[in-house]
Amino acid sequence: MATPVSGPRVLLRQLRETMAEPLASQDRLDKIVNLIATNMHTDVCSFYVLRGDNALELFATFGLKRESVHMTTLRLGEGLVGLIASQAAPLSLEDAPSHPAFAYRPETGEDPFRAFLGVPVLRAGQTLGVLVVQNKDHRIYGEDETEALLTTATILAEMIATSDFDTLIKPGQDIDLRRPRTFQGQSFTEGIALGQVVLHDPRVVVTNFIAEDTEQEAKRLESAIDTMRVSIDDMLSHGDLASASEHRDILETYRMFANDRGWVVRLQEAIANGLTAEAAVERVQNDTRARMLRSTDPYIRDRLHDFDDLANRLLRVLTGNGVPSSRRELPDNAILVARNMGPAELLEYDRTRLRAIVLEEGGATAHVAIVARSLGIVSVGQAENIVSVSENGDDIIVDGPAGTVHLRPTRELEQTYVDKVRISAKRRAHYRELKDKPSVTRDGTTISLLHNSGLVADLPMLADTGAEGVGLFRTELQFMIASRLPKVQEQIALYREAIRLSEGKPIVFRLLDVGGDKVIPYLRAAAEENPAMGFRSLRLALDRPGLLRTQVRALLTAADGGPMTILVPMVTETWEFVETKRVIKLELDRLIRSGGTPPSVLKVGAMIEVPSLLWELDRVLPECDFVSIGSNDLIMFLNAADRANQRVAKAYDPIGLPRLRALRHIVDMAHRYGVPITMCGELAGRPIEALALMAIGMTRLSMSPPAIGPIKEMVLGLELEPVRAAVAAALADGQYGLEIRELLMDLADKQALAI
Ligand code: PEP
Ligand code: MG
Repeated sequence: MATPVSGPRVLLRQLRETMAEPLASQDRLDKIVNLIATNMHTDVCSFYVLRGDNALELFATFGLKRESVHMTTLRLGEGLVGLIASQAAPLSLEDAPSHPAFAYRPETGEDPFRAFLGVPVLRAGQTLGVLVVQNKDHRIYGEDETEALLTTATILAEMIATSDFDTLIKPGQDIDLRRPRTFQGQSFTEGIALGQVVLHDPRVVVTNFIAEDTEQEAKRLESAIDTMRVSIDDMLSHGDLASASEHRDILETYRMFANDRGWVVRLQEAIANGLTAEAAVERVQNDTRARMLRSTDPYIRDRLHDFDDLANRLLRVLTGNGVPSSRRELPDNAILVARNMGPAELLEYDRTRLRAIVLEEGGATAHVAIVARSLGIVSVGQAENIVSVSENGDDIIVDGPAGTVHLRPTRELEQTYVDKVRISAKRRAHYRELKDKPSVTRDGTTISLLHNSGLVADLPMLADTGAEGVGLFRTELQFMIASRLPKVQEQIALYREAIRLSEGKPIVFRLLDVGGDKVIPYLRAAAEENPAMGFRSLRLALDRPGLLRTQVRALLTAADGGPMTILVPMVTETWEFVETKRVIKLELDRLIRSGGTPPSVLKVGAMIEVPSLLWELDRVLPECDFVSIGSNDLIMFLNAADRANQRVAKAYDPIGLPRLRALRHIVDMAHRYGVPITMCGELAGRPIEALALMAIGMTRLSMSPPAIGPIKEMVLGLELEPVRAAVAAALADGQYGLEIRELLMDLADKQALAI
């Protein structure tokens, strides 16, 4: 007698009962495949698990030969099962053997089966295995059946993640999802940190999968979606976001998704199939992730993050779990793991407990990286997919210089790092010993080492590094972390505090440099195609003289009659610099008129970071008290390669011939006009690059504070003259195949420099 059609809900109930029974893992699996086959009227149901070695092992079957269980394996991408696993997508075929990917496994006895339906078993977008049903006849599995199998797969995924299935597997071929993992990312800062994962935006872990009452779950979903929609609408109408901004764009996208019928219908279907509302969100998100991850279109992949965030928001509403990590009690060795975050978000955390940050995105010159660097927090970016496989409390090691992150490291690895940390603590102690030594090369050239800064929090480090002063104070950081435009009094207070904390050492205050990756939501007027080349920085300042004048007023006032040095960013043509000086003069006159004390010495300099200025240095230099090269932007523009886009940012060596020639031209011209010149881009803090800069005649280098020690050590050991001569010859010759970096490495090696 044929079994009556019982539908996915009944199947889920049976599965729940099976999971509650005290069965051994293998017996439980055998029972599950049996239940699925019976319920779906299929001749076969098989379950393959993806092992750590990327083989798909048959773990249980109903209908194929039992001897093949734990014997039959397929490689990822091999056969229909391998195809489903590698593409993370379902596959339904009327006649499986005629499919080109079909791989025949005689030991399974699958000859007579033609109809085939397989679905990936996914958890947080990761493929854990494949679930397959087969029939002898030419049957076409309907969408309902695919849906039912996918729903069942969600439950199996949870079982794999939480049960002891790995006891069924041969030693060394683990399926342990919590196995150690290593991520090769991009180094943002020096330093090594060991600690515990704190997820910046914790994923909500769904534990209750099978619905007791489907109608009730549908209602919960509906009301959670409503709550979420209202909260997004609220945020959109909120004062700060009412004008156009990037945040607004993101929220608009969320609103669009939240109102998307397709998405909601898929959630409802998953509930109708017997899942809880939370499990339905997870299940639909698994599909969305799997589909979107296969896309090579960066736009689509970006939207995936939006969907992830949205699903997480919905899960939080459903579980009532909404407290952000920054407001939770942190362990005292917290390592923050996030997809991405802004500098303001980073600053919300208790710094004393934060050892490191790890991001899936971001480039070394992204603002969060700059802030992390200036606070001395170890950080690594581009750790792909780390968020989905990390859990709060996991052990983690961040190797800053290598850009490597070890999640759940083995004991041996941990010990190696404990030793490394001990050595680097010794090295830091050694750098501290150097701090009072004059920074002079062995052949007598003085190299001034300065800090790049932007937060008052990092100024006390001046005393630790022994740097001469602050070569670049990025004033925009205060603006970026504020929720509205800082008032003139707030600006004065910050600049005064900065001057006080620098204890008499000089500070170069750079005027507001916003735009590119430095987003200030309340200042951006309109979305731009190319913000790095858009209405930014000095362009914006000159267009809004009120903003510029307020800042200049604050700076001149904060000097309190002492010296003041102002740096003008993004000068593209000389007139812009002249115009800025005019505004500064207006404010100076105003200060004097109102009885204030003018700065004892006022110096105004231009940043050289836009290539066009290279061809009118003879105009701009006579106007400047000093200049500073912003290599981050200058090299980006010279190479037409976005500094924040990892695909291209590192494609061209910054000290390759054309870049170094351009830099030397600037240095030569500055010397000719007798204008002091500093390098304040990230290049200055990297030993080989710094060596190249010294070789072309730069003697003032401004860098993130942790770079001072290593650069100083190099300076102290350096015989500059031979390096200068060799680089001059290489630049003059321009010989193809002669790489300046290699030449410098060689020279550094010969002099046994600490590089
Ligand atoms: C630069 O462009 O090199 C620079 C120092 O400024 P920022 O990184 O803030 O743009
Ligand atoms: Mg710049």
